[in-house]
Amino acid sequence: MSSGTVSTPVSTVPLWINGAPADAHSTRRGDICNPSTGEVIRTVPLGDGQDVDRAVAAAAAALPAWSATSPVRRVRIFARFLELLTAHHKELASIVSEEHGKVFLDAMGSVQRGIEVVEFACGAPHLLKGEYAASVGRDIDTYSRLEPLGVCAGITPFNFPAMVPLWMFPIAIVCGNTFVLKPSEKDPSASVRLAQLLKEAGLPDGVLNVVHGDAEAVNAILTHPGIQAVSFVGSTPIARHVYVTAAQHGKRVQALGGAKNHAVVLPDADLEVAADALAGAAYGSAGERCMAISAVVAVGEIADPLVDALAHRARTLKVGPSMTEHMDMGPLVTREHRAKVKGHIDAGVSEGAALVVDGRELKIAGHESGFFLGPTLFDRVTPAMSIYQHEIFGPVLIVLRADSLDDAIALINANPYGNGTAVFTNSGAAARKFEDEIQVGMVGINVPIPVPVSILPFGGWKQSLFGDLHMYGPEGIKFYTRTKVVTTRWPRESAANAFHMPVIT
Ligand code: NAD
Repeated sequence: MSSGTVSTPVSTVPLWINGAPADAHSTRRGDICNPSTGEVIRTVPLGDGQDVDRAVAAAAAALPAWSATSPVRRVRIFARFLELLTAHHKELASIVSEEHGKVFLDAMGSVQRGIEVVEFACGAPHLLKGEYAASVGRDIDTYSRLEPLGVCAGITPFNFPAMVPLWMFPIAIVCGNTFVLKPSEKDPSASVRLAQLLKEAGLPDGVLNVVHGDAEAVNAILTHPGIQAVSFVGSTPIARHVYVTAAQHGKRVQALGGAKNHAVVLPDADLEVAADALAGAAYGSAGERCMAISAVVAVGEIADPLVDALAHRARTLKVGPSMTEHMDMGPLVTREHRAKVKGHIDAGVSEGAALVVDGRELKIAGHESGFFLGPTLFDRVTPAMSIYQHEIFGPVLIVLRADSLDDAIALINANPYGNGTAVFTNSGAAARKFEDEIQVGMVGINVPIPVPVSILPFGGWKQSLFGDLHMYGPEGIKFYTRTKVVTTRWPRESAANAFHMPVIT
């Protein structure tokens, strides 16, 4: 990603403010590349404090009417949005695939998982109804109301340009908040398209705004007095910064960070099933998923046959341009990210890990300038090696060997991340032990990427999430509302003045 003045005749992705495309005040620009070709296809404004101010002002102006709109009416707009998302599913997936580089079918799946959060959000009238208790005292009833927070903001990563924004703004908005979205500057077009479709569905102007940018725009959001809550998804160092800075400025924060997701394969697992699942989980989306399996812990005698089975799959994956049919894996998102991932592989080699499959020299004919890196497999990795300690976020799978399930669990629990994990076994008792003892937020039993469906919350533990509440599901509703408890008394006869603490009579 380079910034500077626009030098190529490509279009600029607009901001979306008050229901319309808008030019940025900032003159800084970033390049958006097609990772399959390496070409700059668009530029994006890197917004400044004034751009954030305009978006927050629009959201604040829209707030009184929107928060006073009944949940049923809010949700009717989202029911129309659902229809539009379905009608534009392929178009959205194409935008994702073009700017991110993930293969089209994978992009379709990611958009679908975002659509499912909109389906969940359409249940808001039920989810917002609070609790009621009659006759808690003489003539006294009490009930809770879930009220919106105000203007909320979302800051999202490059790896799910449609899905992660859809984790946030539909739930915030059906709860009666207005929203400012700051998508990744690497692939921001899907967010603007989502905002256009939501306007078409009937959303009043100003309820959803999109501002582009990098650290400057993010920091303006984190310190903005007009923003009540911040949802963030991205890498752990930035998640920590977002959590600390936004909290210091009085905001509610949920900040989801990076990951190092382990899959344990026990000796009794079905080898072929596990190898298929792990290859998809490690190399799908070129490993650029926060729930990707990046470390396999092979227990006991299954290690040698498992490494052979994984190597076979890594060597036979079809790697190519993201929009070419029947590809398993596309390029990495940027030239810089490819160089970083390659650097991790170089480090693994020099630290003495066994490089079983080396993807560094892969070239795709006709796409020599694309950001491709082939599937890579390391065996005999130890926790002291940098390829174990860092989140690589590329098509690099490492295998560690353990003597027992206890050792595997201890290894995972000692890791600073706690996003996702999985165990492959045919033993219910072993699976139950794993589920009980593992300190990770999302657990798969013979399921490699256990991303919760939208009716349950998504979130990791430890360095993978800063804050209390996870994303979407009932915790999403809690995050975007605050509780007001009302106690009512309509006495049938006048009561004496009370100077002591009231108790139930
Ligand atoms: P990133 O942290 O670099 O960027 C995320 C967002 O923060 C972007 O909008 C970016 O503009 C902004 N940002 C970047 N640098 C900043 C800075 N110095 N100050 C303030 N804001 C800054 O993450 P990424 O590379 O876009 O995405 C990949 C990362 O996101 C991986 O670590 C991955 O594990 C993580 N991720 C986590 C989840 C999850 O649910 N836990 C989901 C998806 C991605």
